[in-house]
Amino acid sequence: MRCPKCGHLKDKVVDSRLVQQGAVIRRRRICQACGHRFSTYEEVVRVNLRVVKRDGRHEPLDKRKLAAGLERACEKRPVSPDQISAMVESIVGELENEFDREVPSTAIGLKVMSRLEEIDDVAYVRFASVYRRFRDVNQFLNEIEGLIDRE
Ligand SMILES: [Zn+2]
Repeated sequence: MRCPKCGHLKDKVVDSRLVQQGAVIRRRRICQACGHRFSTYEEVVRVNLRVVKRDGRHEPLDKRKLAAGLERACEKRPVSPDQISAMVESIVGELENEFDREVPSTAIGLKVMSRLEEIDDVAYVRFASVYRRFRDVNQFLNEIEGLIDRE
């Protein structure tokens, strides 16, 4: 890190501590040329993921919207609000790992479906039927047959 006083590029870290509940590390440094002490802060770069919709439009990834979609699919089903928020967190966590900046909406839909499939078959079919916009009745029936086969 360039010394703010003399411009030298080598320094020694003499102290590191977590601040803001661990979200940031503050490092105390000493310039190896002039002995000047200065501090740096280090934090995780949060990328605001953007969703690329089927029609090519972009919009920010919105956890509330994702939660609303899950709630709609799980309406009157034995799925708790805690389960919904856990799904939202794990989906967004995976998306942040897998994508740098832009997320195709299809990737989100597939993640939602794989979670609903484990939690509740009715919610899964509801979501899948809306999400996949079944082109014909047969496609929808195949989906349901797939569920029945597993029971
Ligand atoms: Zn210096």
